[in-house]
Amino acid sequence: MAGNWKMNLNHQEAVVLVQKLAWTLSDKKHDYGQVEVVVAPPYVDLRSVQTLVDGDRLRIGYSAQDVSAHESGAYTGEVSAAMLAKLGCDYVVVGHSERREMHGEDDAVVNTKALRTLAAGMTPIVCVGEGLEVRKAGRHVEHTLDQVDGSLAGIDPEQVASLVIAYEPVWAIGTGEVATPDDAQEVCAAIRGRVRDTVGADAAESVRLLYGGSVKSSNVVGIMDQPDVDGALVGGASLDPAEFAAICRYYALPALSLLLILLVLLHKGRGGGLSDMFGGGMSSGLGGSSVAERNLDRITIGAGVLWFACVVGLGLLLRAGS
Ligand code: PEP
Repeated sequence: MAGNWKMNLNHQEAVVLVQKLAWTLSDKKHDYGQVEVVVAPPYVDLRSVQTLVDGDRLRIGYSAQDVSAHESGAYTGEVSAAMLAKLGCDYVVVGHSERREMHGEDDAVVNTKALRTLAAGMTPIVCVGEGLEVRKAGRHVEHTLDQVDGSLAGIDPEQVASLVIAYEPVWAIGTGEVATPDDAQEVCAAIRGRVRDTVGADAAESVRLLYGGSVKSSNVVGIMDQPDVDGALVGGASLDPAEFAAICRYYALPALSLLLILLVLLHKGRGGGLSDMFGGGMSSGLGGSSVAERNLDRITIGAGVLWFACVVGLGLLLRAGS
């Protein structure tokens, strides 16, 4: 899961956000082996984030949001891949739609930036995706695959295997309009297929595909359920550490719901052997309830309250963030 902060948060605010994010994830015993967590702050925050991550040995990775297409020299305002590597960046976002749109970056420029990132020992997060007109015309798959071809030209097969490609339909970025899980799956499956056809099955298996566009904790589970979606590139929602932590821990959300369903089924008397499971050992008398049943009641109510609190809490956080 990667959080793109865009042009938000100064270096002090960046440190606070990363501290809160790390604390929340460690409090909830986040499994970093299952879901990698990466933040992409503005350039000027990177040194502070590096100091915090190194000093506190955090398992959060960090990415730049862009890189120069040039190696070094008279390019005022640009930041080179070597400079970002020196700051310990793991990743660099290249070809974000905001750069393609507002800075006229085409696939050739994105390709050069991806190659520079790889040459400096970092991993590019290559963004592709169609605008609304293209989607309406039904050419979204073809358009996105053209961008993949252009952006990955000349990259070695082993390097393609280590890449991250983010499918971000432009009409879903920052608009609150989220693509359906099926939309995300359709294009991600096509991208994986294109990598298989052009580079090989191993690269297609290893390349990581992210979906991006108004991802929140309330819609991430359906998106992550898709076989060809490996993660998400999150914009607005990554500015809230609690919300971003909930997105990173999407795998825990269905578990709580399943627990509730199980408890309700047990209540309905389909579980069998309740006394054994809940340690009652006393059968209930006529009209009374056993210790086991009372324990079950308490657990069910506790889980229900926890679930309700999560839903209400997330709703409030989303409302505050919008
Ligand atoms: C993004 O900036 O890459 C993005 C997906 O933004 P948002 O989640 O806010 O739509």
